[in-house]
Amino acid sequence: MGQRGTHGGFSGSLVVGALDAILSVVLSPSCAACDDLLLHPTRGPVCDACWRSILPLTPPLCDRCGDPLPAWRMVSLPLACCPRCRRARRLVDRARAIGAYDGALRAIIHALKYDGRRSLARPLGRLMRERGAEILDGAACLVPVPLHPSRRRHRGFNQAADLARHVGMPVRPALRRVRATPAQTGLPAARRHRNLRDAFAATRAAATLTGAVVVLIDDVSTTGATLEACARALKEAGVAEVRALTAARVVSPPR
Ligand SMILES: [Zn+2]
Ligand SMILES: [Zn+2]
Repeated sequence: MGQRGTHGGFSGSLVVGALDAILSVVLSPSCAACDDLLLHPTRGPVCDACWRSILPLTPPLCDRCGDPLPAWRMVSLPLACCPRCRRARRLVDRARAIGAYDGALRAIIHALKYDGRRSLARPLGRLMRERGAEILDGAACLVPVPLHPSRRRHRGFNQAADLARHVGMPVRPALRRVRATPAQTGLPAARRHRNLRDAFAATRAAATLTGAVVVLIDDVSTTGATLEACARALKEAGVAEVRALTAARVVSPPR
């Protein structure tokens, strides 16, 4: 998981081990995801067991949106697409995530977003790079999904921008949110799409991306409505291909 191995040498690991022991006794810090006592607090606010529990989505996946497909599709179609992607052409050309929005991954994203545990963006960004390698391949830059300025002020940071910074590629703030949208939670997919249409606009930074392949970065893809609205603004600004890489994805059950 890349959580360890940054401390040099034997004496260094002794010191870190002692520090872990002292911190866990004095502070009794608990894992931000499962609440168990952290045995190695110097490795970050989430325990090793939680990181290990985050599994990639099981193939076969829809070639476009990344949703899991029933296994038989693998045999019948070489480039398989889920029913939703076959019904309507999407503006996001390909999307992938670290894993399903569930369990430890969901708890970690909550801790990052709502408890301000911004240090979690680094290991999440690293996982996005590992599991999203095919999405990042050949792309010119990353574009974080922006928050509306009022929400950005309230939260103090944009979690998508934090994640993008740790994926390890150039980041371009090519989008801005021009309209505050009511909370999306609980809205059906069609309403979400309507709600978000024209909520984003390209910034001046997008002018350098004509004809380019870019990767949108966000914490969670729920119905894909936000990513679609972002992709629309980028393509109208001349971007050739828009991919998306999110920390997690709400998956529809395979059909
Ligand atoms: Zn844990
Ligand atoms: Zn699909």
